Amino acid sequence: MTVPRRPISAPPSTWQPGQRRMFLLVVVLEVCASMAALWSQAPNFDALDVWALPLLSALMLGAQLLLSMGLIRYERATSLAFLGGCTYLLLALSHQYSVMPPGARTLSENTYWFAVLFTSAFYVFPARVATNYAVLILGIAVMICGWHLAATVPAETRLSLIGATVQLLLSGGVLILIQSIFGAQRAQLLASRSAALIDVLTGIANRRAAEERLRELSGRGAAYTVVLFDLDHFKQINDKHGHAAGDLVLRGVAQLSQALLPQGGVAARWGGEEFLLILPPLSDTQVRKLLNTLRNELRQQWHGEVVGVTGSFGVANAAAGELSEAVIARADEAMYSAKQQGRNDIRLAEWRRSPAG
Ligand code: GH3
Ligand code: MG
Ligand code: MG
Repeated sequence: MTVPRRPISAPPSTWQPGQRRMFLLVVVLEVCASMAALWSQAPNFDALDVWALPLLSALMLGAQLLLSMGLIRYERATSLAFLGGCTYLLLALSHQYSVMPPGARTLSENTYWFAVLFTSAFYVFPARVATNYAVLILGIAVMICGWHLAATVPAETRLSLIGATVQLLLSGGVLILIQSIFGAQRAQLLASRSAALIDVLTGIANRRAAEERLRELSGRGAAYTVVLFDLDHFKQINDKHGHAAGDLVLRGVAQLSQALLPQGGVAARWGGEEFLLILPPLSDTQVRKLLNTLRNELRQQWHGEVVGVTGSFGVANAAAGELSEAVIARADEAMYSAKQQGRNDIRLAEWRRSPAG
């Protein structure tokens, strides 16, 4: 088996499935709203809506399809949808001035959607990028409106339309300001949350992050494999080379464990010189192969003056419906048995029937 490697990264987020459902909901709403808009116009379709709304719906459905097939990432799908919606609204903003009934005193209803567009920018992009995009869109809207008010709008309706346009653009500006303040606060909160999930010494996930991940996996009944390992005679390294050298070893072991993870795996410092790997469900052969690679590399790794360390490994597979604490307890027992039987070895925990099963 070839275990695909992945770069060192922060613990995976657990809110992706919720976002995907939200995107699907937005797609469904957009398609329904477009169909309703066209239906209400029949048989005298608006010259822009008649092609732009079906095209926008096709773009949204296409993004959803590619997302479901795993061909694009969630971020790409939402950016596509956002850019599609933004292009349509700017075109519609310009178009409405040319189809305004004589004596019109206000803008058309589709300008209400600019508020949604500015708000969704902060949902789709990080706060700073969203602010830039929203300001850019507002700038383009100012130019479109300015040009029409100066050049195409009849003089007798100009004053009322200037009032309506200023309200639209000003409310957009205020909305962007509020969102960018909230966005900056949200970014700070997210940064402190991810800091709370990182082990300060090694830079990999800490115990809290691992526990959250385990609870999430067990909560949705997912199959997974855990490996708990403890470095052998680590106290002797501290005693012989000093605590700083011990720290260097811990960092090296953490980085190596992280670098060897298969896709979707998490490496965490469980405590002291104990580490936990949360892996996709692996067969005994696959997990032994992965751990033997890790053990070989650990044995050969240089950490300052310390050359090579060994560890005792306990492996457990989560049974359907099993609580994560029970899976960890089985891995811990297996690791303890490896310690007892001379260290530097791998022990696989017995499968245990869950209380429900
Ligand atoms: P065993 O093979 O039975 O696991 O022996 P051991 O020496 O590895 O285990 P023991 O529990 O006796 O000692 C663990 C040592 O790990 C003691 C503690 O000082 C050290 N340790 C725990 N956390 C850190 C840390 O953050 N940095 C350093 N340098 N040492 C640590
Ligand atoms: Mg130890
Ligand atoms: Mg220990």
